[in-house]
Amino acid sequence: MTSKCDAVVIGAGVIGSSVAYELARKGLSVIVVDKAAAPGLGSTSSSSAVIRFNYSTYDAVALSWEAFQCWKNWRTHLNAPSDEVIAEVRNIGVMMMKVPVVSIPLTQELFTAAGIEHEVVGAKRMQEIVPGIDTGMYWPPKKIDDDEFWEDATDSIEAMYTPEGGYINDPLLATVNLANAAMRLGVEFKFKKEVTEILTSDGRVCGVELNDGEQIESPVVVNVAGPWASRINDLAGVGSDFTVSVRPMRQEVHHVSAPEQFDNNPIIGDLDLGVYIRPESGHAFLVGGTEPECDEFQWVDDPDDVNMVRTQELFDAQVTRAARRLPDLKVPSSASGVVGVYDVSSDWTPIYDKSELPGYYMAIGSSGNQFKNAPTSGRLMAELITAVESGHDHDADPVIYRTEHTKQEINLGTFSRKRALNENSSGTVMG
Ligand SMILES: Cc1cc2nc3c(=O)[nH]c(=O)nc-3n(C[C@H](O)[C@H](O)[C@H](O)COP(=O)(O)OP(=O)(O)OC[C@H]3O[C@@H](n4cnc5c(N)ncnc54)[C@H](O)[C@@H]3O)c2cc1C
Repeated sequence: MTSKCDAVVIGAGVIGSSVAYELARKGLSVIVVDKAAAPGLGSTSSSSAVIRFNYSTYDAVALSWEAFQCWKNWRTHLNAPSDEVIAEVRNIGVMMMKVPVVSIPLTQELFTAAGIEHEVVGAKRMQEIVPGIDTGMYWPPKKIDDDEFWEDATDSIEAMYTPEGGYINDPLLATVNLANAAMRLGVEFKFKKEVTEILTSDGRVCGVELNDGEQIESPVVVNVAGPWASRINDLAGVGSDFTVSVRPMRQEVHHVSAPEQFDNNPIIGDLDLGVYIRPESGHAFLVGGTEPECDEFQWVDDPDDVNMVRTQELFDAQVTRAARRLPDLKVPSSASGVVGVYDVSSDWTPIYDKSELPGYYMAIGSSGNQFKNAPTSGRLMAELITAVESGHDHDADPVIYRTEHTKQEINLGTFSRKRALNENSSGTVMG
């Protein structure tokens, strides 16, 4: 069997569904293929869906700020009917602890340029915003069985606070919303079908082959396969001119009850102790890691062969670190939480780009920090693809994405596969 369309999108995660929706908004006929049974069952399903604007380049900051406006106008963004249940933003603010690997002056400069309200706060103000917080400085993060972990802080810490930012209450629902929006524009989703071959002809892509032998003819193929992205790139035979590589990494996010007095407190990004703390419905917290150097990175060879059960050891480590910052937090004896896989790029910045194979594009390397950008990732990919397919030389003259809400100009060269690695990257999920 053979089908035909203008663009095939590989992957129906939050970014793949957004790419499909935006390509359809530009008038392309689109088929999305996913080996899972429904939208969002890849890495999106375990996302903490935190929205913060702290990145190390102007383009990344501006992109997240624009995406936040899309989330705040989610029903309009989707053009969803009034009776569709949609995901919601919890706009509670973000407190990002000051650490040597993230420059506060640079962040201030970038936030000012992008028009994001922010405040550098000391201990007293921090305690007003998050009552009960411990304002000690503990850098660098340590293992909890290291005696130094338990030593008293010798100094107090500052933080960068943004009153805006927060999280999406239901990341899976947000993905279903995007897939529904795409379907309303005629996008076809083929679930439980795996792309097994990228087809080429005369030096350019011409479609994909699926595990059941079906071929889809298409002049454009977009790899949005999350942690499986490098496997798809291997099928396409691309990579010869990349300076940036991607690699899957296992992660755990833990779930604990929140102390009584905590109610809609801001997200706490705490690289000083090696965790982030996000409120969750049911008076709980999600506690994730920020790749502290003292912990071994859990690189993964095969994303289909990952231990998807959270471990007691990492649960104890992450929740105990969180409890150092919020001393009223109890560390339960039994572990609870989810396991997920990041698609980590060399500098923790995504690749949104074309490739050396004409017609083959990538929205990959999301590095644990691109859920928040899904609405804009779709838009910038649609801009990039239509520009390049109309003859624009994006490698020589990067496409500029002009944002709808915040009226910013975002240079898509920042997300090139051939970029000079971002030297301001924190080397963590912060980007
Ligand atoms: C634990 C965790 C916490 C996170 N927390 C945050 C956060 O707080 N804030 C934030 O902004 N970001 C966060 N992220 C990152 C964010 O969730 C991801 O960047 C985003 O979900 C990636 O979406 P995607 O569509 O690119 O990929 P995925 O959701 O991984 O989708 C890829 C899809 O491709 C399909 N696929 C793969 N190979 C094939 C094939 N051969 N044929 C057909 N289909 C295929 C898979 O089945 C999958 O559904 C987190 C990620 C994880 C894992």
